[in-house]
Amino acid sequence: MDLSFSDEDLAFQKEVKDFMSQSLPADVHDRSDRGLHPKKEEIVRWQKILHEKGWIAPNWPVEHGGAGWSLTQKYIFNQEYFLAGAPQVTPFGISMVGPVLYTFGTQDQKDKYLSRILSSDDWWCQGYSEPGAGSDLASLSTRAVRDGDHYVVNGQKIWTSFAHYADMMFCLVRTDPDVKAQMGISFLLIDMKTPGVTVKPIIGLDLDHTLNEVFFDDVRVPVENRVGEENKGWTYAKFLLGNERNVIARVARSKYQLARLKDIARQESMNGAPLIEDADFKRKITKVEIDLMALENTELRYLSQEIAGHKLTAEPSILKIEGAQIAQAIKGLTVEALGMYAVAYEPDALTERRNDGPIGPDYAHGIMADNLYQRAATIYGGSNEIQRNIIAKLILGL
Ligand SMILES: Cc1cc2nc3c(=O)[nH]c(=O)nc-3n(C[C@H](O)[C@H](O)[C@H](O)COP(=O)(O)OP(=O)(O)OC[C@H]3O[C@@H](n4cnc5c(N)ncnc54)[C@H](O)[C@@H]3O)c2cc1C
Repeated sequence: MDLSFSDEDLAFQKEVKDFMSQSLPADVHDRSDRGLHPKKEEIVRWQKILHEKGWIAPNWPVEHGGAGWSLTQKYIFNQEYFLAGAPQVTPFGISMVGPVLYTFGTQDQKDKYLSRILSSDDWWCQGYSEPGAGSDLASLSTRAVRDGDHYVVNGQKIWTSFAHYADMMFCLVRTDPDVKAQMGISFLLIDMKTPGVTVKPIIGLDLDHTLNEVFFDDVRVPVENRVGEENKGWTYAKFLLGNERNVIARVARSKYQLARLKDIARQESMNGAPLIEDADFKRKITKVEIDLMALENTELRYLSQEIAGHKLTAEPSILKIEGAQIAQAIKGLTVEALGMYAVAYEPDALTERRNDGPIGPDYAHGIMADNLYQRAATIYGGSNEIQRNIIAKLILGL
C-alpha cells in the first residue's frame, strides 16, 4: 500500500489550494463556515465559478464535461475543497441524476439536461422516499399510469430536500403493481412546474426549511421523460445510490470542523483558563481526532486498493457509518464548548428580519442549527442500521 503523493500530485494540490483561496466568494464561505445551509443564489453563483474552471463534475467522463482526473487527483481535490471551508456542491444533479443520464439516458435526454446540470441552470431534487417507503424503498406506491404518450402520476414523496428550489425532480414511480416490488418501478424526470405538482415545506429540527413533501395530483409526464426501460427503474435507482455512497467519509469536512472546534475551545474559558487546556475536554477532542485519523487512513487504504484494481463492496458503508458518527461527535463537542451560547440559537439572527445580530460571540451562530441538522447524517443516504446490514451480508457473510 503506497499512501504518498507524487510530485505531480503535490503540484496539483497546490493548484487546487490556490484556486480555492482566490475564487471561493467570502459570503458563500461565511455561511458554510457557520454551518448554515447555503441560499440558492449563493450556491448557484459558486457552482458557476467551479463550472467555468471545468471543476464542477470531477467524476463525470471527460466527453460529458468531467475533469479527467486520476482517483488520487479526485481525492486531493475533495480534500482541498472542504479544507477551504466550501459548501458541498448540490448533489442531486451532479452526483445523482447526471451519471444516470449519461449512462442510461437517450441522446435527447443527454442533450437536454447534462449541460444545464453542469452550469447549474437546472436545480434537481430526488423523489425517492415516501411516507411508507424509506429504508424499504422498493415498497413505494406513487403510481404512474400510461395514457397515450404520457404517464399520469398520483401519489406523494416526503423528505424531498430543496424541492422548493428545484426545476426538475428525478422520481421513482410504480408502473406495474402486479409484480415483485422491485420489478414494477420506473424512473421519471418530472418538471416541477407541471400542473398538479404541489410542494409543501417541512421545517426541520434546525428550524430551517430544507425538507418538503411533494404531492402529485394527476400530473402528466411525457413518456420521453422516462429514463431507460419501463419497470426497470430499480436498476437505475440502485446505480444512483451507489454513486451517492462515494462521497460519504467526509474526512476533510470533519477536519475543517475539528479545527474550528479547537479554535472555539481556545477562545472559550473554563475555571479561568482556556477550555482547550481542560484535561477532560482535551481528552474528548483527542478521542475524536484519533478516530478521524483512523478514518482517513482507512479511506486512503481503500483508495489505494481501488487504484490497484480492487472493486469495493461494503467498504463505502464502513466509511459512511464512521464518517457520520465522527461528524456528529465534533458538532456535539462544539455545542458543549459554547455552553450557554449554543443554547441561544436564533435561526433568523443573520437575516434581513433582524438588525441586532446574534447573541454571544460571532462564531457561535449556526453551530446549534448544524448540530441538529447533523442528526440526519446517520439517516439519509441509507441509515447506519442499513449500512450495518450491508456489512453483515457482504463482509461477514451473515
Ligand atoms: C435531512 C434528510 C434529507 C433527506 N433528503 C431526501 C431527499 O432529498 N430525497 C429522498 O427521496 N429522501 C430523502 N430523505 C429520506 C431518507 O432517505 C430516509 O429518511 C431514509 O431512507 C430512512 O427512511 P425512513 O425515514 O422512512 O425511516 P425507516 O426506513 O422507517 O427507518 C426507521 C428506523 O428503522 C431502522 N430500520 C429500517 N429498516 C431496517 C432494517 N432492515 N434493519 C435494521 N434497521 C432498520 C432505520 O435505520 C431507522 O432507524 C432525507 C432524509 C433526511 C433526514
